[in-house]
Amino acid sequence: MAQRNPFHLFDVSVRQRIELSPSMLRFVFAGESLAQARSFGPDQRIKIFFPNDAGELSVPRGEDWYARYRDQHPAQRAPMRTYTVRALRPQAAELDVDFVAHGDTGPASRWALQARPGDRVVLMAPHASQDDSGGVEWRPPADVRDVLLIADETALPAVAGILESLAAQPQPPKVRAYIEVPLRADAVDLHGPPDLRIHWLPRAERRDTDAADYGARLIEAIRAAQLAPAQTRTDAAEAELSEIDIDREILWEQAAVTASGFYAWIAGEAGAVMAIRRHLVGERGFAKSAISFMGYWRKGRVLE
Ligand SMILES: Cc1cc2nc3c(=O)[nH]c(=O)nc-3n(C[C@H](O)[C@H](O)[C@H](O)COP(=O)(O)OP(=O)(O)OC[C@H]3O[C@@H](n4cnc5c(N)ncnc54)[C@H](O)[C@@H]3O)c2cc1C
Repeated sequence: MAQRNPFHLFDVSVRQRIELSPSMLRFVFAGESLAQARSFGPDQRIKIFFPNDAGELSVPRGEDWYARYRDQHPAQRAPMRTYTVRALRPQAAELDVDFVAHGDTGPASRWALQARPGDRVVLMAPHASQDDSGGVEWRPPADVRDVLLIADETALPAVAGILESLAAQPQPPKVRAYIEVPLRADAVDLHGPPDLRIHWLPRAERRDTDAADYGARLIEAIRAAQLAPAQTRTDAAEAELSEIDIDREILWEQAAVTASGFYAWIAGEAGAVMAIRRHLVGERGFAKSAISFMGYWRKGRVLE
């Protein structure tokens, strides 16, 4: 059966490559059609198609694009990965994406390490004519007063956008952010609301020093964190936690739209997010309905 694609394909090329920190690279993509792109929120996700090993970049178009994409020979297919729109400037027909440079084990990171101005990719992103706000999970209740953000470097672009959006609000909430990054020098300045405290959690001081495991510093920091009792649940049924097999399924749980006062947004390596979910909901009594949990990647696994 043909799969409807609510997003649109944009042919773009690299206009600029910016080294944000030792582990993060920003690519400014440009392409005339980006004048018609749209972002529905600060964690807007998109798909990026990269050239295959032969350097070819051919992405099927039309209603049944996905079936035809899957039918392509794996060697011919353009690898597809999920990224966040860090900024969109339709007037300039530009879109920024921040990449974690995690080595050459995956096509996206490998591409980012080598890419230079003029290199082409295809973006799958919302179109200006679209009114279905797909691909956005940051949906705090209107009366939110207390925000908790927990992220690793893959979700840092989304967190940076979330903080900017909160800073622009007339009465921004209090925000506590716990962000794990590869190196101390990856803790960059972020613009946010006045009542913001960021706990930067580098896995290593420098490249030549020992590094903690992925997620270990985040889990340790959340376990030790003083989190206000006002944030805990009142309904015992909320303690019910279904186990999710993160090596087979994708960990993706949304806060209920009715949540208010407190709201948490948690994204990063799925094993770490799962451990934090168990701790906050299972052990600390947080209301699951006030927290979004998202496995952005899984160590040792490829997620398209
Ligand atoms: C909604 C959403 C938004 C995202 N936004 C961003 C973003 O803005 N910027 C960003 O950099 N990433 C982002 N990610 C994460 C990104 O999709 C993954 O890191 C992806 O696996 C990278 O693809 P790859 O081709 O480099 O590696 P893959 O081919 O997917 O994986 C190859 C190997 O590398 C490992 N791996 C994957 N990512 C990492 C990593 N970061 N560090 C260490 N090892 C890794 C895998 O476990 C696997 O063993 C997002 C993911 C989601 C779901």
